[in-house]
Amino acid sequence: AGAAAAPPPRQSKLEPREELRVEVPPDASLRVRLVAGTAEIFGTELPPEGWVSIPPRSKIAIFSWHGATLELDGPTESEYPSVETPMVIYVNTHAILDARRARARAAAAQGGDLEASQGPRVIVVGPTDSGKSTLCRMLLSWAAKLGWKPTYVDLDIGQGSITIPGCISATPIEKPIDIVDGIPLDMPLVYFYGHPTPSINPDVYKVFMKELAKTLERQFSGNAESRAAGMVINTMGWVEGLGYELLLNAIETFKANVVLVLGQEKLWKMLKDAVQSKPNIDVVKLQKSEGVVLRNSKYRQKTRSFRIKEYFYGIANDLAPHSNIVNFSDVSVYRIGGGHQAPRSALPIGAEPVADPTRLVAVNISTDMIHTVLAISYAKEPDEIISSNVAGFIHVTDVDIQRKKLTYIAPCPGDLPSRLLIASSLTWYEA
Ligand code: ADP
Repeated sequence: AGAAAAPPPRQSKLEPREELRVEVPPDASLRVRLVAGTAEIFGTELPPEGWVSIPPRSKIAIFSWHGATLELDGPTESEYPSVETPMVIYVNTHAILDARRARARAAAAQGGDLEASQGPRVIVVGPTDSGKSTLCRMLLSWAAKLGWKPTYVDLDIGQGSITIPGCISATPIEKPIDIVDGIPLDMPLVYFYGHPTPSINPDVYKVFMKELAKTLERQFSGNAESRAAGMVINTMGWVEGLGYELLLNAIETFKANVVLVLGQEKLWKMLKDAVQSKPNIDVVKLQKSEGVVLRNSKYRQKTRSFRIKEYFYGIANDLAPHSNIVNFSDVSVYRIGGGHQAPRSALPIGAEPVADPTRLVAVNISTDMIHTVLAISYAKEPDEIISSNVAGFIHVTDVDIQRKKLTYIAPCPGDLPSRLLIASSLTWYEA
């Protein structure tokens, strides 16, 4: 078929509080330039000069508070303006959070207790494609613009925005999130669950949430600044049954005190009732943006794959991963959970499976591992794996059973920082 001819560079005018919603095709980037006025993409201002390259597949809104003229260069799959946005509601929410941060900082300066000096711990919940990640991004960027350094916590193992899927992670946000590069990756705290859905082993998911919360709690207790700035927590779009139970668990584990519910009255009501006995939690219903693009499960699966590829090859395909070979005897691969747990259906009525779901199982290296991702644990001993975060990931490209050698790619050259590796069900196939 061949690519359609790219349209010529064009100007687009935004009225105050209007946004231009754009979908960038999978095989090209779009260049955007601010010609006059001011505009932002999900809370981060467009620079006053120069072109910004929006990566392929992005779905964005360029929003202006006071009006702007833009120039666009490159193809788009869709491109339309809208004045019907929830941005005023979102920025008002930001203002309330900002006031709470200021109160927490003032309390800390007067020697207030841990409770008074704790800034807002915001958790954003809602079904898939309600705009959770986008709202988190805006709240973080607006806060960072005012000089706060809030902590971003991402519990979404399906479509995480900090690192590859299958992880729960946290990172401080010190400046508005870069439009092109996304969340900064200099010092994320990452726990590797290894699957894109929690139902495979919800107990392990809970254990990792607890570990992450514990580590953040420790960091906050020694850092009044990040304590006052608080957290913004992104969650999974699974809000029924086990998904709902895990949301309640997250609220409790991270001691969230502001719950922002996007686009679902029923969920808002359920959560409100569930936490009503706890006086210090506000459950707030927020309108969802009509601009949020719906993504079906096949598309989400594809995005997961791209996120893994990006980790090794860079967002603009600008990194060259390093290929390396290790002997089987140089590494130990473990899987968390599973093992010999009997299925519930095989047990007498009323009996609980006895196997520990967080049990560590040593895995033999086999050709089944080809194309999967392994995480490199910071643990010193195998039994520390369940309580340790990870240094990074490798992608298995070959397993030679005869010669007992495993070939992998990694983003950096050199030896593995640890010999303890965690297996996963995450795969990526080099095209
Ligand atoms: P969720 O986290 O709830 O699954 P996201 O925040 O990831 O939803 O939004 C889904 C998609 O819609 C993302 O690709 C995001 O960039 C896009 N999006 C969000 N808000 C807008 C908007 N106002 N205009 C255009 N695209 C948007």
